[in-house]
Amino acid sequence: MADQAVAGAGDNPHVRTLDALVIGAGVGGLYQLYQLREKGLSVASVEAAADVGGTWHWNRYPGARFDSEGYIYQYLFDETLFKDWTWSERFPSQPEIERWMHYIADRLDLRKDIDFGRTVKSAHFDEVTSRWRVETDAGHVYDTQFLVACSGVLSAPLEHLFEGEDTFRGDILHTARWPAEGLDLAGKRVGIIGTGATGIQVIQTIAPEVAELKVFVRTPQYVLPMKNPKYGPAEVRAYKDRFEELRDSLFTTFTGFEYDFEVAWDDLTPAQRTERLEDLYGHGSLKMWLAGFGEVFFYEEISEEVSEFVRDKMRARLKDPELIETLVPTEYGFGTRRVPLETGYLETYHRDNVHAINIRKNGIAEIVPYGIRMQDGTVHELDVIILAVGFDGSTGALTRIDVRGRGGRSLSEDWAREVRTTMGLQKHGYPNLFLTGAPLAPSAALCNVPTCLQQQTEWITACIGNVIASGKSTIEPLQQTEDDWVAHHDETASATLIGKTDSWWVGSNVEGKPRRVLAYTGGAGAYNDKCKEVAESGYAGFEMA
Ligand code: NAP
Repeated sequence: MADQAVAGAGDNPHVRTLDALVIGAGVGGLYQLYQLREKGLSVASVEAAADVGGTWHWNRYPGARFDSEGYIYQYLFDETLFKDWTWSERFPSQPEIERWMHYIADRLDLRKDIDFGRTVKSAHFDEVTSRWRVETDAGHVYDTQFLVACSGVLSAPLEHLFEGEDTFRGDILHTARWPAEGLDLAGKRVGIIGTGATGIQVIQTIAPEVAELKVFVRTPQYVLPMKNPKYGPAEVRAYKDRFEELRDSLFTTFTGFEYDFEVAWDDLTPAQRTERLEDLYGHGSLKMWLAGFGEVFFYEEISEEVSEFVRDKMRARLKDPELIETLVPTEYGFGTRRVPLETGYLETYHRDNVHAINIRKNGIAEIVPYGIRMQDGTVHELDVIILAVGFDGSTGALTRIDVRGRGGRSLSEDWAREVRTTMGLQKHGYPNLFLTGAPLAPSAALCNVPTCLQQQTEWITACIGNVIASGKSTIEPLQQTEDDWVAHHDETASATLIGKTDSWWVGSNVEGKPRRVLAYTGGAGAYNDKCKEVAESGYAGFEMA
């Protein structure tokens, strides 16, 4: 579509002129495109992948599935759209999720406005025309008034972390680049590096089919067992009947989930606390983390008690002292990194064909043609190496694009100095650039993704509508507004224990990335209220020109 000549595009007939361009066709991008189109704007999306889905298009590794209940991982703006889709289980897997994203694109007829297979290379703001010029790596050009980045929180995979990757003779691949046609692992000697939420799902899934699985474990994770019942007609009816309740409540809770912190630690006796922890643990979801005791995020002693509760559960399942030393975390508190759900993950290490290799004791030196060589010289011979090593979270998708604002300032250079935004929605110096899933908002890490992305894209749609209705051309947060938000964000974050723990949540997984808690820790509900206040004030603190 974008190849055709476009009226009003100036001298170059291959420049596509738009009111708004959305980068990405994942959960946020699809809804953003739909809303702006409904508002009557000329809008398109540009998407690197061959189809819609974003994270659920790319992450097709074995075992990929939701850790949010399917019925809350939903768009809630249209009751029929919600009710016409039926999940088959509580925590659906990637193929079903991808089908759901296709269903959304079909129902809202979105594909006709998406340019697939195009990777945005640069986005430059022109101060003379007050418009963005966006170019793809294949040379397609978009000239747009508004630019909305729905480029993903976890869409920039970490690459080239190990010496010698290119020398490996077998298959070596990042989990986010799993081939659509699958990869035959049967009877293979497989090594996997990384035991985050992704690695855990892969490990527990492939262990029975491979000849041998070597898991290279650096930082172990607190894990919670998932309860994942299949849904029959009664369960489906029950969750669909909750549409209104979910629509009204999800946007008010701390993390955009259906549950919230309700019980104070100090109000319970030790026996009652244990009883509650057992209940939460038995829920088989993220409730224990996201709606258990909020105090675990703030108080070392309470964090330690809850952490020890989870460690006890893990030790009881692992039994073996060496496995316990390798796989039970002791260096950080429960919930200060993303807590993965699992299904038989710990028991997987009892299989004869699965070996946990503690790389805190003997690190990875390099990848060699036939496997992985350790610092003590040992070589683990392998046919396949799976890199479940994570992403340059929240900032990486945008810093891999040459984004330039007023005066040619560069977003990647700005964020290399200090990761700052105004409410994760805009950045001073970059008029009409809107962000989603960006730093300093809950959507950067601490939120049920669709809840936060719906809230953000709805705010952006209203804001763009306001600029147009006011007869103005641009909107941009004032320097002072950004300073105030960064200060508020830091004050809120520094009261928690999250900033003390290394993980992608603070950017410590990327060499040289300035450390800052990426997600706003004041709660998604409170954040939503603050966003509403800004809109109701007529965008006080933002300059329209
Ligand atoms: P991650 O949480 O960042 O984990 C990466 C893993 O790779 C960690 O174990 C890390 O060890 C290890 N690693 C990285 N570099 C290494 C190196 N040079 N040497 C050895 N080990 C290395 O990434 P992820 O597991 O892909 O998960 C990222 C996020 O995606 C999650 O937090 C979650 O938000 C999301 N996710 C969601 C789901 C779901 O909803 N079901 C599933 C998967 C992922 P260290 O910790 O020691 O650095």
